[in-house]
Amino acid sequence: MTFDTVIIGGGIAGWQAAIQLSRCLRKVAVIDDGGGRSSAAKMYRNLLGFPSGISGDELRQAGRSHAVRFGAEHFEDQVISLTQDADQLFRVETKRGRNAIQARTIVLATGIADPFPEIAGLQECLGISVFICPDCDGFETVRKKTAVIGKAKQAVRMADELFYYTDKLHLFISVEGEEKSELDSVKDCPYPFWLEPVATLEHRDGEVSCLHLANGEQFALSRVFLAFPGARVESHLLRAFPVEMNEKGHVLVNPRTKETSYPGIWAIGDVAAHSQQVAIAMGDGSQAAIWIHKRLLQQDSK
Ligand SMILES: Cc1cc2nc3c(=O)[nH]c(=O)nc-3n(C[C@H](O)[C@H](O)[C@H](O)COP(=O)(O)OP(=O)(O)OC[C@H]3O[C@@H](n4cnc5c(N)ncnc54)[C@H](O)[C@@H]3O)c2cc1C
Repeated sequence: MTFDTVIIGGGIAGWQAAIQLSRCLRKVAVIDDGGGRSSAAKMYRNLLGFPSGISGDELRQAGRSHAVRFGAEHFEDQVISLTQDADQLFRVETKRGRNAIQARTIVLATGIADPFPEIAGLQECLGISVFICPDCDGFETVRKKTAVIGKAKQAVRMADELFYYTDKLHLFISVEGEEKSELDSVKDCPYPFWLEPVATLEHRDGEVSCLHLANGEQFALSRVFLAFPGARVESHLLRAFPVEMNEKGHVLVNPRTKETSYPGIWAIGDVAAHSQQVAIAMGDGSQAAIWIHKRLLQQDSK
C-alpha cells in the first residue's frame, strides 16, 4: 500500500491535516493508537464555535468521520518504526504489522504523553475540573478554591501562575523521590501546603468536590491543577532521521510550511515546538497539508 501521505497520530492535528489533504484528492492514511491528550481531555472551553465546550473524543470522532467521508483511510494501530527506502519512499511499520505501508510524505502528529498520577477519580475529571495548562484553563479557577497537586518546584511555579486567577490556592506535594532541597523550597512559599499523598478525588460527572489524602484528611474544593514533570514528547520515531529538535524533544519545523529539517517529513500539533492548544494543532494540520499538496504537485509534474 503506497499513500501520498501517512499521518502518524489521529488526534486533533492529525485529523485536521487528513481532512485538508483528502479534499486535495490525496491518498491519505491516518494511523492512530487511540491515546494522547485529546483522548484524555473531557472538555475544551476555549474553542471558536463551542461556547459551551466540547470533549476531545467528540472532536476526534468528528474529525475522523469528516476525513473518512472525503476518502482518508484509518488504521487503528501503533507505528513502531519509520525508515526510508532507496527509492525515497518512507516505510511505516506498525505493531500489528499486517500490511507494509509506504508513503511519499509523512506527517508526525503524535502529541505528548502526560505523566498523570494514580489518583482515584482523576481521569474522569480531566478537562472538566482537573487541568494541566493555565493558558487553556486558568479561567476555570477564577475565585475558586483550587488544589495544586504535584512535585514541589513545579507546584509552586504553577500556583504562582494561577494566583492571577485565584488566591484560594492549596498545594499538595508529592514527596516520593523528591530531593530535600526541593521540599525546603516549598517551606518559603506563601501558600498552605501538605506533604501527604492524594488518594482520591471525589466528584460528580467530573466536577470535583472533595480531595482525600492517604491519611484520611479531606478538603472541600472545586478545582485541581496538576504540576508534574516528565511529559514525554512523542518524537522518538524520528530518531533515524537528522531532524532538528529542541532539548525537550519537540520537533523544530519551518514556521511557514510545518516541514521538519528533513525533506518529506512534517510535524504538527503538540509534538512540534510551540503553544500546546487545540486551535493551534488544527492550524498546523491545515497548513502542513497545503504545503504537502504543493510538494506532491511539484513531484507529479517532473
Ligand atoms: C486535561 C487536558 C486539558 C486540556 N485542555 C485544553 C483546553 O481547554 N484547550 C486547548 O486548546 N487545549 C487543551 N489541552 C491540550 C490539547 O488537548 C492538545 O493541545 C491537543 O490534544 C494536541 O493535539 P495533537 O493532535 O497534537 O495531539 P493528541 O491530541 O495528543 O493526539 C496525538 C495522537 O497520536 C497518537 N499516537 C502517538 N504515538 C503514536 C504512534 N506511535 N502510533 C500511532 N498513534 C500514535 C496518540 O495516541 C493520539 O491519538 C488539554 C490537554 C489536557 C491533557
